[in-house]
Amino acid sequence: SRNGRPFRMAVIGSGPAGFYTAYRVMSKIRGAKVDMYEALPVPFGLVRFGVAPDHPEVKNCQEKFEEVAASPDFTFIGNVSVGNLSDHPDGSTIPLSSLLRHYNAVVFSYGSSKDRMLNIPGENLKGIYSAREFVGWYNGLPEHSSLNPDLTQGDEAVIIGQGNVALDVARMLLEDVDVLRKTDIAEHALQTLSESKVRRVHVVGRRGPMQAAFTNKEIRELMRLSDVGFHPIDKSLIPEDIKSLPRASKRLMDIILEKQITPADVSKFSKSWSLDFCLSPKQFLPLPSDPQRIGVTELERTQLQPSPFTPKAYPVPTGQMVQIQSSVVFRSIGYKSVPLPEFSQIGVPFDESRGIIRNDGQGRVLQESRDAGGAMQLAALPGMYCAGWVKRGPTGVIASTMLDAFATADAIAQDWTSSEQPVQFLNEDGKEAAGWEAVKSETGATNKGKVVSWEDWQRIDSAEKERGKAAGKEREKFTKTTDMLAVLD
Ligand code: FAD
Repeated sequence: SRNGRPFRMAVIGSGPAGFYTAYRVMSKIRGAKVDMYEALPVPFGLVRFGVAPDHPEVKNCQEKFEEVAASPDFTFIGNVSVGNLSDHPDGSTIPLSSLLRHYNAVVFSYGSSKDRMLNIPGENLKGIYSAREFVGWYNGLPEHSSLNPDLTQGDEAVIIGQGNVALDVARMLLEDVDVLRKTDIAEHALQTLSESKVRRVHVVGRRGPMQAAFTNKEIRELMRLSDVGFHPIDKSLIPEDIKSLPRASKRLMDIILEKQITPADVSKFSKSWSLDFCLSPKQFLPLPSDPQRIGVTELERTQLQPSPFTPKAYPVPTGQMVQIQSSVVFRSIGYKSVPLPEFSQIGVPFDESRGIIRNDGQGRVLQESRDAGGAMQLAALPGMYCAGWVKRGPTGVIASTMLDAFATADAIAQDWTSSEQPVQFLNEDGKEAAGWEAVKSETGATNKGKVVSWEDWQRIDSAEKERGKAAGKEREKFTKTTDMLAVLD
């Protein structure tokens, strides 16, 4: 402690970044008190609403988070959104400025709540969805629980983008519904997927296999799906001498070359898919019979410079157009973080082009200012830190998010305990920062919805598991915030 007062920190967002930062700070600063604000009534961010339902082992990190939450120094404040960011009808919204008055430090770990657009003609046609909303829908995210995607218009689906999220979407479309039935996938999604007519999935990307963004684990899973064929890939994109490639690339080339089917074999499988490399989407064309609905995706072939085998090769347009029949399209070109509404007023710098809070790489939020001579300087904003996707951009698995959160926590601990060059925090001059108690009484008047405590979440959790039992599933999620909150009445 400094001057005998404990360190009090607010964390905004309860995904892996928030929990791992809290964990590490609590273990590095004795007596640190952490209040975690979460917009939804339920915790864990994309671990609950992003990670695919057939990846239950990935969700094991929740056990660590539960340990963190069990500490008497930790308080979960669910169904409370900071700023006015999310569409949040059943919960409360509190201003960031209130947090700044009652904590020594604030950690922004609120993730990426929007997605990137292609900005090409026809993008708003019916039948084109963003991967983010589709993923949210099958995982029971309240915001997208009524998406109800139409998978009955025809058999060809196009996924634009070749990252792991794109492969998750492909797997959901291709996987046997009976396998998904045992997972915690939302019931409405099971229903829709069981009626799906999609038989042929194209996963399209601008670059080639040597520049692929997906991981070998995800590709291998798709290759293992039973009764699903994989179409041959363009061999000219694969180096002749595979053996001399770095290990991970070599593996990937082996995986994608091993399983290819011949065109004559396609009919032996109920479903099939392909990795369509070196294609850049140009426009979406409607069905002749319905000018509002997607019919065809038009793409331009690219050429990789300086060569298809250069890991950092970039795609150059060739002018050659390709059309793919599309009864449904998923845009999977990345998530996007947005600034909290009060950032501009408070002076928290947001890098719009990269979609991150400007920081020093360790998680200290940086502010631009001019020194006496008028030169631009970057200085840390006292008591403000960031972690996770809003710090680094929307890439990386939970393990990389953990390392990133640890770096932020280490910066916080280092700043708080440094004695040589004292680092300034928030609210150090007056009395002890009072945290949630003070924020609650200050903002009480604006609070509409019930605040969900950790014990409340545990009741929701039990109720979901109970519902799941009946259906032979791990859990049956509530997909509406009102239903989550009704458990607590
Ligand atoms: P998030 O997990 O998004 O957490 C942010 C939290 O902040 C959310 O709970 C949100 O509700 C809350 N929030 C937002 N705004 C506010 C506000 N204003 N006030 C209060 N709270 C707010 N990684 C793996 O290791 N394995 C996988 O299989 C895997 N699959 C993935 C599948 C998909 C579709 C996606 C998108 C990601 C996947 N990842 C996977 C990556 C992993 O989910 C991320 O690395 C990680 O969740 C990022 O953590 P975060 O805490 O930065 O953000």
